[in-house]
Amino acid sequence: MKISFHGADRDVTGSCHLVEVAGKRILIDCGFFQGSRELDDENAAPFGFDAASIDVLLLTHAHLDHCGRAPLLYKRGFRGEILATGATRELARLVMLDAAHLQEEDARRRTRRSARAPDPADGAPLYGTLDALNACDRFGRAAAYGQPITLATGVVVTFFDAGHILGSASILFEVEEGGSKRRALFSGDLGNAGRPLLRPPANPPQADVVIMETTYGDRLHKPLAPSIEELHQAISATFQRGGNVVIPTFALERAQELLYVLRQGRERNQLPPAMQVFLDSPMAISATEIFERHPEGYGPAVAELFGDGRDPFSLPGLHFTRETAESAAINRITGGSVIMAGSGMCTGGRIRHHLRHNLWRPQASVIFVGYAAKGTLARKIIDGAKSVEIFDETIAVRAEVHTINGFSAHADQAELLAWHTQTHAERTILVHGEADAMRAFADKLGGAKVEIPALGDTIEL
Ligand code: ZN
Repeated sequence: MKISFHGADRDVTGSCHLVEVAGKRILIDCGFFQGSRELDDENAAPFGFDAASIDVLLLTHAHLDHCGRAPLLYKRGFRGEILATGATRELARLVMLDAAHLQEEDARRRTRRSARAPDPADGAPLYGTLDALNACDRFGRAAAYGQPITLATGVVVTFFDAGHILGSASILFEVEEGGSKRRALFSGDLGNAGRPLLRPPANPPQADVVIMETTYGDRLHKPLAPSIEELHQAISATFQRGGNVVIPTFALERAQELLYVLRQGRERNQLPPAMQVFLDSPMAISATEIFERHPEGYGPAVAELFGDGRDPFSLPGLHFTRETAESAAINRITGGSVIMAGSGMCTGGRIRHHLRHNLWRPQASVIFVGYAAKGTLARKIIDGAKSVEIFDETIAVRAEVHTINGFSAHADQAELLAWHTQTHAERTILVHGEADAMRAFADKLGGAKVEIPALGDTIEL
């Protein structure tokens, strides 16, 4: 059994690992490289293996940095089977189609610009909608948590609930080769226990080798309950001043988590009854509809609501605004509304319109509940910019700015350590982390045998 590393190595995006065993070539994730840097070249670069030679692609979850290059894999010749949980299939379809659409738009813009340049360049998108649809056609058997699936003689995989986003999984390989048995466990992205919607990550099975993420290998999270209280208080105070609350929101999981938390606040009378809530993101609306179709994916409190026939993501005064005209109409509202829109880091999408209409008002608030990379508009506002550029206009920052940190979807250092201890692994391979986080986590593992592969490395197990 051999593993090679083709993404998220000493880095947090572009997850892609290749297992070669029993004559089969099995890929675990095929994600997009993302971040503030220009990563087009990295995404377009050769995979480091022949796409047509891949027999199976296993997806741990539907985040773009784990499934975003699957359509490219198809475009370059992959015709094997994609295995994922039911929720991941639906969410990954949404994410891949959205990514294809954005790349097609980008390509059109590049082509227009390039036509005016002295040396016109190729404006073709990395992949298009058809590639994404074709990739979706490769979804085969659906994986259920705890149910072994045979990939080849002597090669069995089992998905375990990773508690990170709806449908997320860790994947165990059990391999019988030449009379000996080996167990290799891929963590996928691990969740943070005590989140509002999901169950905590399942107790991991014992394994000889773990290949694990280390996103927050160097820090501990703040607890969630005070963060929810802070959110409720910030909203109430803003409404008293007569302003709106603008929340830049990631479409998957964070948007649904916020709806649930707002619903809770209304039920407990911690939020004003007149509150209007706008989910102003077609992608987040579609994701919420998928979340509503998977009651099996949640922790006990949410499961109970579903059991009673109640929708955990619905509350009085909630509006889903899919159409552009509905979105533009929100601009006329000056107070009493919570406006959630993407993108989470304010690098594009409808959120920029809402910031333009609210950021300069001292009555308004902007609340950040997610990660903001360096160089993004979100980060500039968080770091205290007095004014920012939005659509070539200088906008004063007079709104109250809150950064609420308790909503992380990733396990922190203590949770990663506890998970690792339960696997009893003799050998540990760290991926999906920045260098400092990986080093800090490796130190915490003490004398354990730890490897930190670089992009393109191969490890024989
Ligand atoms: Zn993730």
